[in-house]
Amino acid sequence: MWIITAKCDLCMAERTLEVESDVPPYSIGDQIEECPCGGKYLVEEITEIN
Ligand SMILES: [Zn+2]
Repeated sequence: MWIITAKCDLCMAERTLEVESDVPPYSIGDQIEECPCGGKYLVEEITEIN
């Protein structure tokens, strides 16, 4: 399981996702979704949880 922390590049809102996967589901800097403010959530941190 991976904990993905992402931050909006405009309003700096943070969100975290939990992803079940054998390999890292994202890379640092990947866009995971769009923020309601019009910015993009970009991956900042990836942590593996065992
Ligand atoms: Zn935003």
